[in-house]
Amino acid sequence: MPTARTKANRKYNEKAYDRIPVTVPKGDKEKIKAFAEKEGLSVNAFVNMAINKQMPQKPIIEAWNPARCPSCGEDLSESLGDGYYKHWYGKRVCDCGQKLNWEEEVT
Ligand SMILES: [Zn+2]
Repeated sequence: MPTARTKANRKYNEKAYDRIPVTVPKGDKEKIKAFAEKEGLSVNAFVNMAINKQMPQKPIIEAWNPARCPSCGEDLSESLGDGYYKHWYGKRVCDCGQKLNWEEEVT
């Protein structure tokens, strides 16, 4: 019999999250779990991180600053001096594995 708290948690989770069942070859679940634990992550956190790194994200671009990776914060520009930076628009993947999307959205 679920407690009131368990019921409340389920109700919240149903509202706040979507679930994606993932099928992997037999034995891979344990490999994935072991790798995630080595990285200090839950399987859920690891899978979310892996998905988000594969989906290109916009670099963080602020005036008079180097562009930065939205995942790890690493600089994605070289300084030209006097506060100017040349952004590495050709860099499609940060060293952390995050795919990058440099394109400006047309509004
Ligand atoms: Zn990065």
